[in-house]
Amino acid sequence: MAPTAVTGLALLLARAGLTDALSMRESDPTFQMSEADTSAEPTNQAEHGRPEKRIAYQTHRDVEDADELEAHKQIYHRAGEVLGGSQNIRHILQFVMSHPHAPVLPHGGCLYLPSDRVWAAFYRHVEHPVPTLFGDMIANSYYPGCNQTSVSGLRLPPSCGPGSLEGSRGCFRVASLGSAAGVEVYETSGHLGLPDQWSYHIAHTQPRHLRRAKEGGSRGSKCGRELPEVPKAHRLEIPTRYVVCQKSDADRTITEEHVREQNRWANEAFSGKSPWKEMSFDAAHPPSVDMQISFKLVNISIVTDIACARQGFTNTRLMHKYNEHAENFFTVVIITNDQSGVLGQTEFPHDLAEEDPENMVVVSSVGFRGDASRYNGDMMYDEGDTVVHEAGHGFGLYHTFEGSCGGRGDYVDDTQEEAMPHYDCVSDRSCGGDTDPVHNFMDYSPDTCMVGFTEGQKRRAWCELENHRSGLYQQSLKKAAGSSSY
Ligand SMILES: [Zn+2]
Repeated sequence: MAPTAVTGLALLLARAGLTDALSMRESDPTFQMSEADTSAEPTNQAEHGRPEKRIAYQTHRDVEDADELEAHKQIYHRAGEVLGGSQNIRHILQFVMSHPHAPVLPHGGCLYLPSDRVWAAFYRHVEHPVPTLFGDMIANSYYPGCNQTSVSGLRLPPSCGPGSLEGSRGCFRVASLGSAAGVEVYETSGHLGLPDQWSYHIAHTQPRHLRRAKEGGSRGSKCGRELPEVPKAHRLEIPTRYVVCQKSDADRTITEEHVREQNRWANEAFSGKSPWKEMSFDAAHPPSVDMQISFKLVNISIVTDIACARQGFTNTRLMHKYNEHAENFFTVVIITNDQSGVLGQTEFPHDLAEEDPENMVVVSSVGFRGDASRYNGDMMYDEGDTVVHEAGHGFGLYHTFEGSCGGRGDYVDDTQEEAMPHYDCVSDRSCGGDTDPVHNFMDYSPDTCMVGFTEGQKRRAWCELENHRSGLYQQSLKKAAGSSSY
């Protein structure tokens, strides 16, 4: 369809639709928050009709005219301005806008976006979301002409009365933030427009993950901020086994050779040798210490297990049989047909007994080294830093954006605090201090942006291993080559 025809149709629809949206807001000036709104519930999802057949929407990639493309980007930009203090969602809009798969938002419509509080809760349930799905999320959340069907074909949930919509756990509030560039922006206190994968994952995650999410993460760690220097004469060579859950014998998405290459890459990263692609905002080489930790590859098993390959993130019990004697190994499970839209997921050692089979790193093949280049995927996570990031969690490291600004943060003093995860390699000062640590392995930035760990993270990793995986620590402790003293 010619772009002019799209614009014309949208304008026609916009007139009728925007009036409806505005009257919905104006008819209830004394709107009260419902019971369900008082505590943001990330599991409260809009009761969408999710028809099998979706609408193939136009993306920025399909727009050839440069001026027209700029006008489409402006819609995102202006909508972001209306969001005001919601930094998280504004950042996600910017991320989507800067990628060719961004949905074209026809002029005149309603965009429904979650409040920062709801979004923060989302992160506790979906660890390391696959960011390409953010484009789908926007397409599911934009209703041209403020009508009943989104750009992608999702149906708006039924109304619970003025200013609220039906959710899986009760009604949630929908409040207008204002309009810009012909788009009415609404803030929602439940999830509207979550892609199918995340919607499924949140609805089916095991209670243990939900419990941890509710508690805001366990703080049972023996490692505080004051930590001793790591002994120079020692290193940890950690016995590491990889398990690949593939969906069929013919799958072969990940081979033993791929695993060896991934392991080599993780060892480079942990020794401080990950390549640095210098950005214009870099004043110096970003921190990238030698962690004095390496992964000694002791076993690779490739198993055909479709349940594990598809639902491993949602039901981690499916992988317990592959993690017997968890106390003796660092176990990395790769799932090749993920249906959860998650890149990786790992428990902290201080939350578990050493022999607990939950002591493992789980990654999607989408974030495995070389997978995107082999299978024409999104190159953001092609280098193999997802395993490095998840191993960081496996050694007790938090995200650099943990606790946002002004809190206890990631329990490491030499990482700059930041308000939110970054999906782009950008210069930002989200907490008002120094530049956000986008080059740190414990952010969500693209692999080419990730460079290293800090000295504080190294001390914390050693402390966590010594105290919370002491069996593995004792097995792994080696005298460094060339060192003569203990
Ligand atoms: Zn993470």
